[in-house]
Amino acid sequence: MQEFLVIDGVTKCFGSLRAVGGVSLQISQGEVFSLLGPSGCGKTTLLRLLAGFEQPDSGRILLNGQDITGLPPERRPVNTVFQNYALFPHLTVWENIAFGLKMAKKRQTEIRSAVERMITLIRLKEHAHKRPAQLSGGQRQRVAIARALVNEPQVLLLDEPLAALDLKLRQHMLSELTALHAQVGATFIYVTHDQGEAIGLSDRIAVLNEGKVEQVAAPAMLYESPATTFVASFIGDANFFEGTIVENPPTDRVRVDVRGLGPIWALDSGDHPLGKLVRLMVRPEKLRLSPELPPGHEHVNFFRGIIEEVIYFGPHTRLRLRCGEHRIHIQRQLDRSVANEPAPVVGMTRWVSFEPQDCRLVKS
Ligand code: ATP
Repeated sequence: MQEFLVIDGVTKCFGSLRAVGGVSLQISQGEVFSLLGPSGCGKTTLLRLLAGFEQPDSGRILLNGQDITGLPPERRPVNTVFQNYALFPHLTVWENIAFGLKMAKKRQTEIRSAVERMITLIRLKEHAHKRPAQLSGGQRQRVAIARALVNEPQVLLLDEPLAALDLKLRQHMLSELTALHAQVGATFIYVTHDQGEAIGLSDRIAVLNEGKVEQVAAPAMLYESPATTFVASFIGDANFFEGTIVENPPTDRVRVDVRGLGPIWALDSGDHPLGKLVRLMVRPEKLRLSPELPPGHEHVNFFRGIIEEVIYFGPHTRLRLRCGEHRIHIQRQLDRSVANEPAPVVGMTRWVSFEPQDCRLVKS
């Protein structure tokens, strides 16, 4: 099957700085695809290359099999929503949404029905006569999205569209965007440095680091099986251990000797030689804490540690334990089944245990 949007070995430099370094991605029609990474990793530059505001130094961009690399922005079936809304302050909500269609010299009746449909979709019909200054931040961003969608672009590029909104409004707008996407069906490419937004919204995410793609996967896959240390620590929290492979049976398990903790079984079916130095990753919420050795402990990884810090967050508690030279982070929900156990406090010695399948090998 031919991919809808293909980014093929695209590089963009600004002087000696390589902002985007040989990026290749394939995006399906109707997909919500996020470009996620820290500030300066090149995600906005990549978005601007897709929009046609920048030209790559090398590589190609194909849409529906057509090479659009050299096309100016107005000739691409692509629209962009910026972080700062970029609405016309002197036009009403209705006029802002209608603007692009008027410029394209569409017929009055066509404009009226397209704007009517969009303004209903974003639930701002009662505000049609207002100017941007009379709207809330969330309402303004909805107008900006409607204005970009009214021309029925095949691809909607969203550049940190929720960054200016407060947390509650951001969460609300994420649901709105998901609902809107389901209604219009265009391909959404969403740029953000906020892992929560990317995870909540996307079908797939490309994690970028210093202009390069670290990993492309569905949100759950990125979280459960990060390929690299960078991805594991950018998406969520993680404990890392280094050790050498001491057993590699023909199963999906591998045994790693970690100095100070002992042998740890991890999930991996790679063909690793014995003695190879590797890095393991386990998420803080996968670790259990118990006063006694857990039942069935011969099937899990376990070691002892001393609680150094306990921070209560409401829905969960975060603990830090010292296990020899290691510092281990644990996130714990309140568990009613062990509610009569004494609450963990600093100075207590506890067993830490976790399942081999929750422990993964990651590249450094
Ligand atoms: P942010 O989240 O902060 O917007 P980003 O991941 O979107 O970051 P880009 O804006 O793509 O990053 O920038 C990538 C690198 O390229 C940065 O180091 C930036 O300073 C540089 N850069 C971007 N645009 C230009 C430009 N027009 N001229 C020179 N350098 C640029």
